[in-house]
Amino acid sequence: MNKEHIETIGNNHISSNIETPLRTDAFDKTDDEKVKNIQHHFGKIMEELGLDLTDDSLSGTPYRFAKMYVKELFYGLNPKNKPKLSTFDNKYGYKKMLVEQNITIDSACEHHFLPITGHAHIAYIPKDKVVGLSKINRLVDYYSHRPQVQERLSLQILKDLQEALQTEDVIVMISAKHLCVSSRGIKDKNSYTTTIEYGGCFKDDAKRDEFMKIINN
Ligand SMILES: [Zn+2]
Repeated sequence: MNKEHIETIGNNHISSNIETPLRTDAFDKTDDEKVKNIQHHFGKIMEELGLDLTDDSLSGTPYRFAKMYVKELFYGLNPKNKPKLSTFDNKYGYKKMLVEQNITIDSACEHHFLPITGHAHIAYIPKDKVVGLSKINRLVDYYSHRPQVQERLSLQILKDLQEALQTEDVIVMISAKHLCVSSRGIKDKNSYTTTIEYGGCFKDDAKRDEFMKIINN
């Protein structure tokens, strides 16, 4: 890939698949082995930038960086960390919209590895199954903690909820600021990006309007 093509992909959010592109050997190494390797390589990057790693303030940075990447920011790459979406029978027979609003999005763009921060608003209309509310937040947190594109993040959350709840009637809206837009490139501090993905009855304008009204309250 030439450099111009690489820049174009970074700006256009080309996403080929709903699955995060992972290597087949992605989880052959333990987390601690990964931390050790990334620590080594990030130290090299710092050295290449001209930083003196013998300085007290900098000497621990490669380790802190590596641990943060593997165990915090990108813990959601590893399926073993995926929250279990246990569902319950819809005993109340609640059949109207359930909305979970203002779920924190703490993610990172996969083109620049810079933060994406914002909120997700999610609704579903239960059929036979309901899910514990905090499980929705946990699922959002899990998929956010990967290098992401916002479009794919929305779809991954939508698909999992549809599967767990055994209904297509789910809507996922995400509004987020991308640091790669606000602090480099165009440097627009005010713009944010909204994605909206849905299925089933949310294809109906009236249902989406009802959702939007609740969100905007
Ligand atoms: Zn980016």
